[in-house]
Amino acid sequence: MVVKKQQKSERIKRAVNIATKAHEGQFRKTGEPYIVHPLAVQKILEEWGMDEDTVIAGILHDTVEDTDLTLDDIKKEFGESVAFLVDGVTKLSTARNGMRDIDTYLPATKDNFLRLMIALGDDIRVLIIKLADRLHNLRTLSALPPDKQKKIAKESLEVFAPLADRLNMGRLRVEMADLAFKYVDPRRFEELEKLIKKHNKSAEKSLKKIEDEVSAALKKEKIKFTISGRVKSVYSLHKKLAKHNQNINEIYDLTALRIIVDDITDCYLTLGVIHSLYTPMDGRIKDYIAMPKQNGYQSLHTTVITKDKRVVEFQIRTKEMHEYAERGLAASFYYNEQKVTENYKKGKIEHLPTNLLWIRELQTTAARLREGKKIDLKKLKLNLFADKIFVYTPKGDIIDLPAGSLPLDFAYRLHTEIGDHVVGVKINGKMSNLNKKLEQGDIVEILTSKNQTPKESWLGKIITSHARQKLRNRLHKNK
Ligand code: MN
Repeated sequence: MVVKKQQKSERIKRAVNIATKAHEGQFRKTGEPYIVHPLAVQKILEEWGMDEDTVIAGILHDTVEDTDLTLDDIKKEFGESVAFLVDGVTKLSTARNGMRDIDTYLPATKDNFLRLMIALGDDIRVLIIKLADRLHNLRTLSALPPDKQKKIAKESLEVFAPLADRLNMGRLRVEMADLAFKYVDPRRFEELEKLIKKHNKSAEKSLKKIEDEVSAALKKEKIKFTISGRVKSVYSLHKKLAKHNQNINEIYDLTALRIIVDDITDCYLTLGVIHSLYTPMDGRIKDYIAMPKQNGYQSLHTTVITKDKRVVEFQIRTKEMHEYAERGLAASFYYNEQKVTENYKKGKIEHLPTNLLWIRELQTTAARLREGKKIDLKKLKLNLFADKIFVYTPKGDIIDLPAGSLPLDFAYRLHTEIGDHVVGVKINGKMSNLNKKLEQGDIVEILTSKNQTPKESWLGKIITSHARQKLRNRLHKNK
């Protein structure tokens, strides 16, 4: 085990050296040497407990796009898995650059982008690296000009924070959302931050009293626990207020206490103890243990009214659930690698809803990869959108097509007029031909000429019924 650790740090050191050399002479907007950024991403990934390949890919994540280093170099140096991850991150960023203006693709296509990130993500670790990358960029956003700040902040709120939420990375979601919101609406941010502070201050004393009362009662029941206040993020308050006509009195979870216990039985026992002390509010008991949220989040929530008429929310969960709620998918990578937590293995996470089963499938594959077992890289691809590909127009609009689609399918999808006058196609900036199957993330530019007319032979270069229909109509008309 010690030997393994040693090897690990050797590889990481090597990656740091290579990245430092590759980025030499490049600087960030902050004025610091560029390497500061990949190293920060490394640190974030290590904090999240990610596996070594992911950490190395994090160190190298900007090299292929921005330096002379090639994917082949990385493959030779660090193996297929690291190269695969770096490639994924590079592809995502190319795809993102295709979308020039955030205002034109939001909000109409933001779901598309989110889906795209996941589809392109292939290996979920690509997304995790991307999230770490974005987190550091947000933390250093002040160095950028205001228009760029707003753009990145807005995108973080609309795409990256929801992605973190989808992966149940609660802590990340909160940090990202608040960092970004500060730039999107600085006034509102300050206003709400003050409001929260004021509220917390006024609630402090009675909260302490409640904490003591609950602690005493739990001790009496011989339940092992930790209790702490949970701070509501500015952005989530902002969103909630919008839902409740800005009426702060309707926000019941402004003050919340979190209780962490050993097992599920203790969760329900604790809920009982709290309800015996205070009056639960009607319809505010939520059992996310029996029925986890879509992202796998588990907890018991209850809102109660205390003796001095304070409304307090309690969140009760086990340590594993807490870890998972805070660190989400990253936490499960950690556990999978450590293989220490019996509970975890037996499966709190077994309760993953079916729509998240792909995550586990992916984890299992990733774990095999780490154990050095050979796997088919194709298996790492998510089936989530297996039958679909997302490609771009040069302007950055996303077009989804069935897998296997050809340039003419794309052209007819854009517009019949475009389809009818196709003379050629550029894929990712390079001239290509009409028989070339489009691939996930391709940027497709259709070349047209007014003099071109549809050809009978095109029928063999089309797979979608939509395009076939259009072409047939036109061929018929031209006869
Ligand atoms: Mn980066």
